Amino acid sequence: MSETTTLRSLLIDELRDVYHAERQLVKALPKLAKAATSEELREAVESHLAETEEQVSRLEKAFELLNEPAKAKVCAGMQGIVEEAADLIREEEEGAALDAALIASAQRAEHYEIAAYGTLKAWAEALGESDVAELLSATLDEEKAADEKLSALAEAGINEAATAGEEEDDDEEAEDAASSSKGKQTEGGTGAAARGAAGGRSTSSGSGAGRSAQGGQSRGGRSGSSK
Ligand code: FE
Ligand code: ZN
Ligand code: FE
Repeated sequence: MSETTTLRSLLIDELRDVYHAERQLVKALPKLAKAATSEELREAVESHLAETEEQVSRLEKAFELLNEPAKAKVCAGMQGIVEEAADLIREEEEGAALDAALIASAQRAEHYEIAAYGTLKAWAEALGESDVAELLSATLDEEKAADEKLSALAEAGINEAATAGEEEDDDEEAEDAASSSKGKQTEGGTGAAARGAAGGRSTSSGSGAGRSAQGGQSRGGRSGSSK
């Protein structure tokens, strides 16, 4: 097997993974939107849902360009992120704190996607598949914009609103509360770290470890669909 064959099969494999991830999000985002209290947050999630549906189509187009059936392979990473968000929605009452936690969950999903698409785009470019790379690049830009939008919403007041209910506590108690459940955001998630998420461009580090997640389960190969 030549180097080229190997990278190509990696590309196909990871496209199947992210195809599954996006389709999970198409199902999960409406639940997240419904659980949001902030109108702005709900609108941001709904508009990203529309983008996500388009991203699914872009992946189908990429499979087509590569002459491969559009098959999904279970993305355990996104499954975990989606499950944690579902737990939050189940366990927390609607309100500012849940909104802050929903943003944290959504940003985990965005960062995961940014890492995936950054790698996929680099692989497609390395393989000379420039049309595929362009599709992936368009999606990567949307994921980054979605992430920044979420940071902006958090910074514009959702985090502050989430702490408002805790004002009667004295400082030490508030610190304790922060380390327990009520969805208080750590500085990393929404602020600096989120902004710095440049997109996993690395070719080597991204690929190895996750590979063991056995998959091969193909769901709904809507192969020939084009737009
Ligand atoms: Fe996406
Ligand atoms: Zn995955
Ligand atoms: Fe996304």
